[in-house]
Order: sequence, then structure tokens, then C-alpha cells
Amino acid sequence: MTVRLRPHHLLCVLTYVGRGYSPAFTANMTAITARLAGGEEIEIVEGPDDICAPLLDNGDAHCHQTGVADRDIRASEEVGWILERPIRAGSRFGLGRDQMGRLRASFARDEIRSACRGCEWNTLCSSISASGYDGAILT
Ligand code: SF4
Repeated sequence: MTVRLRPHHLLCVLTYVGRGYSPAFTANMTAITARLAGGEEIEIVEGPDDICAPLLDNGDAHCHQTGVADRDIRASEEVGWILERPIRAGSRFGLGRDQMGRLRASFARDEIRSACRGCEWNTLCSSISASGYDGAILT
């Protein structure tokens, strides 16, 4: 099994502390971060992914919007630069200690956060990274 993630969700998993859009969303995201913590490999996908899944019954889900796809483009470029690997549909890799360290450090330095512009969770995610990722589920 792989965890299917769209590129900007590589950022969102860093600061996930159990808060989200709905109880179904957070239950699913908690399960996904546990799978990542257990070493499960990621497969990058284009468009809605395993994290989006609980929202997709709603035809108006923001997951389909072009603004969200733009977040993916920005995240794939910046995360790819930090991880020194292509981040595009079909890419498969794990988030080991080295990769997590690089992502956390560069996220905290605002080097890979172009995708976060305009996101409603921006203040929360900034405070989590500023606190040294206190409470983050994925370590
Ligand atoms: S600010 Fe939004 S896009 Fe950025 S990591 Fe947080 S939830 Fe994800």
C-alpha cells in the first residue's frame, strides 16, 4: 500500500495536530499520518488524494478548485528542491528522518510555504512550526 498525496499535502502533514474540516476528515488524516509515521511510502498524485477523500461527497469540495491545484504546483517545486527529487504524479518515496528534518526546517524558515498563501489554516500552521512542531502527530 502507498499513501496517495497531492503535493501540497506534503506540507500539511508536517503541522497536523488533529484539527481539520470535520470529524470524518480528522479521523482519516490521523490514520494517514499514522501510516506515514509507520514508514508507508508516498505516491504523488494529481488532484484529490487520500486526505481529500472524506470531503469528496460534496460536489463543491474545494479539492477540485484550480486554486488548490496551484498550491500543488508551488509545493511540488519547493519540496522537490528541498528533497532533491522530482515531486510529480507517480513519484514514490518515503519520509524518513532525514527528509522530515529537511522539510520541517525549511517549512519553519518559510522556504517552502508559497503553497500556504491564502490558506485558512496558515496562522495555525505557522504557530505549530514556530513552536518546534509541538503537538504535531507526524514526527
Ligand atoms: S497553511 Fe494550509 S497549505 Fe500550508 S501547511 Fe497549513 S494547511 Fe497546508
